[in-house]
Amino acid sequence: MRRKRQSEAPEESAIRKKKDRESRRLRRAVSTQKEKMMERISKSQSKLETRLSETKERAEERRSSLQSIAKAKRPSETKEQSTERITHHSTRYRKKKDEKNATTAKNAFGGATVTRHHLGQITTTCTNCRASFFKDEISNDVGMVNICCASGDIEVEDNFANFPAQIEKLLTGDSSDADNFQSNI
Ligand SMILES: [Zn+2]
Repeated sequence: MRRKRQSEAPEESAIRKKKDRESRRLRRAVSTQKEKMMERISKSQSKLETRLSETKERAEERRSSLQSIAKAKRPSETKEQSTERITHHSTRYRKKKDEKNATTAKNAFGGATVTRHHLGQITTTCTNCRASFFKDEISNDVGMVNICCASGDIEVEDNFANFPAQIEKLLTGDSSDADNFQSNI
């Protein structure tokens, strides 16, 4: 090795030194990363231990204190930060709900795994009868609803000529009940 170094040209020596420096830097980076990870693990372990032994009251206190800190920060957050916060929480909420639903479904179907199916948002309206459709109900070939009113041949509105007064009020009125009905129907 030494003899090899003595015989190497200045360029070769420079390349070797550069390589050595690079590999030292890499080794350092890896060990720092390892240290950081170990630190994170140990921190989360002690956090878990504290939480497991804390009383219900203490847990409640901790949660409400975290909540008020987060709430206090809200007025100064940017629109992006606000969107990010809301997205984070709604994703977490949906994930938890999905997990809960999956467990319920699994129990109901004798242990079979049932995954939730999303039809997408209600984004399309039939041009003939104005019925609303979920995104996944739309046929990709023609960009239109697969089965609806047979392209206007079936006149759905006629069937609703004599519907109950109460329903008519909700469907066509502008009271707060009607508003609520029309937007959540
Ligand atoms: Zn239609």
